[in-house]
Amino acid sequence: SRMTYSQLVEWYYTKKAKETNRIIPNQPKFDEIQRRRRLTYVGGYVKEPEAGIHENLAVIDFASLYPTIIATYNISTETLNCQCCKDDGYRVPGLLYWFCKKKQGFESEIIKELLFRRWKLKKKLKELPKGSHEYVVLNAKQLALKTVANSLHPDELVVLMDPNERVKLMKIGEFVDKFVKYKNKNGYEYGIPHGFKALCFDGFNLCFRKINRCIRHKCSSRMYKLVLASGRSVRVTEDHSVFTFVDGNIVPVAVSELKAGDYIVVPKKLSYNVKTIKSINLLEELERIDKELIKDLLVEIPCKGKYRLVLLNRLRILEALRKSDMFIKDISRASGLSVSAVSKHLKRLEKLKYVKLLRHTNGRKIYSITESGIKHMLFLKVFLKFAHYHFNPNKRGVYLIPFEKLKGVHKYAENVSSWKVGPINGVRIPVVLKVTPQLMRFLGYYVSEGHSRMFKNRNGGMSYDITLFNNRRKILEDMFECARSLSLNPVMKNRYVKISNKMAYILIEILKCGKNSYEKKVPWIVFSSPNELKNEFLKAYFLGDGHVLKERIIFFTTASKFLVNGLTLLLQQMGIKGIRISKEKNYYRIKVLESLPFVKVKNAERRVTPFVIPGFLIKNFLKDLGNREAYRKFGYAKRYCVSWRKFREFVNYYESLRGYSPELRKIFALNHGDLALDKIKEKKLIDSVDYVYDLSVEGTENFVGGLGLVCLHNSSYGYYAFPASKWYSKECAESTAAWGRYWIKKIESEAEENGFKVIYIDTDSCFIKLGNKTKEDILKFLEETNKKLPGIMRIDLEDFYVRGIFIPRGIAPGTAKKRYALLDEKGYLKIRGLEKVRRDWSELAKRTQEKVLRLILEKKDLKGAISYVREVIQKLKKLDVNLRDLVIYEQITKPLEEYKQISPHVIAARKLLNYGIPVGPGSVIGFVITKGSGSISQRAEPVEFVDLKSVDVDYYITNQVLPAALRVLRVLGVDEKQLLTPSGLDRFFT
Ligand SMILES: [Zn+2]
Repeated sequence: SRMTYSQLVEWYYTKKAKETNRIIPNQPKFDEIQRRRRLTYVGGYVKEPEAGIHENLAVIDFASLYPTIIATYNISTETLNCQCCKDDGYRVPGLLYWFCKKKQGFESEIIKELLFRRWKLKKKLKELPKGSHEYVVLNAKQLALKTVANSLHPDELVVLMDPNERVKLMKIGEFVDKFVKYKNKNGYEYGIPHGFKALCFDGFNLCFRKINRCIRHKCSSRMYKLVLASGRSVRVTEDHSVFTFVDGNIVPVAVSELKAGDYIVVPKKLSYNVKTIKSINLLEELERIDKELIKDLLVEIPCKGKYRLVLLNRLRILEALRKSDMFIKDISRASGLSVSAVSKHLKRLEKLKYVKLLRHTNGRKIYSITESGIKHMLFLKVFLKFAHYHFNPNKRGVYLIPFEKLKGVHKYAENVSSWKVGPINGVRIPVVLKVTPQLMRFLGYYVSEGHSRMFKNRNGGMSYDITLFNNRRKILEDMFECARSLSLNPVMKNRYVKISNKMAYILIEILKCGKNSYEKKVPWIVFSSPNELKNEFLKAYFLGDGHVLKERIIFFTTASKFLVNGLTLLLQQMGIKGIRISKEKNYYRIKVLESLPFVKVKNAERRVTPFVIPGFLIKNFLKDLGNREAYRKFGYAKRYCVSWRKFREFVNYYESLRGYSPELRKIFALNHGDLALDKIKEKKLIDSVDYVYDLSVEGTENFVGGLGLVCLHNSSYGYYAFPASKWYSKECAESTAAWGRYWIKKIESEAEENGFKVIYIDTDSCFIKLGNKTKEDILKFLEETNKKLPGIMRIDLEDFYVRGIFIPRGIAPGTAKKRYALLDEKGYLKIRGLEKVRRDWSELAKRTQEKVLRLILEKKDLKGAISYVREVIQKLKKLDVNLRDLVIYEQITKPLEEYKQISPHVIAARKLLNYGIPVGPGSVIGFVITKGSGSISQRAEPVEFVDLKSVDVDYYITNQVLPAALRVLRVLGVDEKQLLTPSGLDRFFT
């Protein structure tokens, strides 16, 4: 494809430029790339096809049209509008540009070289049998894309949002390693982390965007550590880019080009709204943690009245309705329950949406089971089979079910809010964990001064406990209260609160708080809580790890890098910008230069925040003013930084003399956004690692990572995406397309002059009707034309075709550009854009279409085609078909939960899951649409569990056979009615 080709060219340019000691153009600026993306210019020439059947065709096409144009007309940035060829250069048709005839352009020379190589490889390929080992190797060479990705140290932390919209900090290496699946020849490995997003910036604000790819490759270049004035740091390879601010724009810059004293872009606040989570269903969370831990857990369900009997009767009713929709009377008969009992249950079941009232017939009600009703049956079966009544002399009795049995089905239960979970002889806590101030403080205490462990006890079993340390009575009391509010059974001692039960240990595991001091983390739930609750967490955390220095600076000490980043992010979410990080011997210190809601510091508002305007940004404006007063007032800014307040003063002063300045205003815009500039304090060479890592983030190609958070560029981007190409030139691209249009139109008019009829053109290929001309005529025409074509441009015969049918846009719905079918002399059918429009064709639909095409193109038998379709429909009605031919295959491409649009293959996949068959991304689902009520999707059944009799014949007629046939036949004047009316003969027999 053209995209791949442009990528290859970009790489080749870079390589050649390095070899020949040429200057490689700088990476395009961020907004430049954005601008390029918006640019559109006229592309290739398309002549809409003449609808219908055409005979005796020749298809001719240009060999590599655009590259040969670039090579032929010397199209390069340095040859564009040269001085020496003003009057006699290569003039671009219809445009005001020209290209040099005297000096060879760099890019066009490279293109030529690449073309020759490619042609040589292709020639060799033609001689090899397809699929042979040599063929595969050569083809890979032809397509090879050398990657020049440069990346991050594996231990650097990145800020991610998982598929459940939870904010998580992870080491990039661990994250990427989990997903890497594919590998190319250059040792470039990648994977697709479905559903994950990364924190990145767009414009001047931070947001979370989809990660398209995560990448890992062997590190082959030097690695640097950048340390910033605020204490942030990041380790990257030398060619990796970070961002800087130039002329009001954020621009990527390679680390190799940076030095101490330069400024780079970092986050200063996070205004992005993370979705608030008010409660957590522990049953769902338990499914995600270590299997060993949950083995012995039981779910406790309160016993209300004759609960078991109620559920049993409910199951009987649903089982009856599962077979077919029914009147109450029939349900009563099928379930063995009285009519009044049935109607009582139905009322409840309807309220819960497990059944629905379908319609009244003669005053009687017909009920039908719903999708969630079918699922609810799964829960009922598990409950009735595995729940044991547990008598408790002190309390009312309860039912206990092993959690393992409820896995996957608890979500189909009616109401879990009264349930509890825990081990048989231990503390059981409510299944629904509400996010409360007490929970937040409990987590804050744990993260600062907590310890959790699992150990073998004297009896050989496992014991679990959590200890929260503190010296102050008041704090110990609060720790105790918080733990008690979570039903955790704490015990208070002189210097600590101890919670010796498994559920406390599991809670810490679920919320990912970390076990030892190096791994402690801000639990994900904190990022998803409102500010008041974040504050509760921070307050409790501060009571443990926090201090106030000289009544001026708040600081936290921790040994965990995760906590450094987590706290930075949390504080930024709360709008606190004044954060500095320093590393002492074995721990980090996070200084907060502003007041926090629960602890005020002196002079916070008067103190200069760490993010100020670097002097270099206003240096040129000062120079421009050049007056003594300006230097007296603002001159120090040349060497130092100015505060925002002082900067505003400067803008007022400057604009009063020079008028409105958009450049200065852009610095204002930066101030209002989420980003700031931080100065590089030190850049040092560090030891290299085996592998380095990178993320490709949709739309922005940047992400936030490193200690204390820094904005990072996905550097492989510049080499792949065309708008970001270093050699990108709108003029060159426009000129290439213009010449392309010029030449294909020229071919068109010359062909017509020579007595051929051109019926269809698309960019570089031309479909010609020979009429009374011969094959020799067209070959002669090509020979003559090739003599006239300039440079290395060449047009070839693609093939001759006996007959073809063309379907213009508008007749057949769908978006495919090219829609035609051609029959060559050997009887091979070349179909384009007809079968591909819909992925969900069954074999029957495909075969019908192909047979129709063959009857029309081979036999010119329209009547035969029509009666063939009728025959297929009749056979289908009589079920005289093979079930295999009705199966529709589609692939699952992401985890099932992520599908928003519930299409048939997703429904079928879920049904497979319910049957206990594992299904996930990559599984190809074969399904059949069956009879019954509900939408088409709901009626999709996995083929493994279907027999021919349950197939919805009408669906296959109207949604498969008819559209497949009409796509071709409509252009010949056939409509649906003609295909559906049985022929005279059929009528005679029925
Ligand atoms: Zn020239």
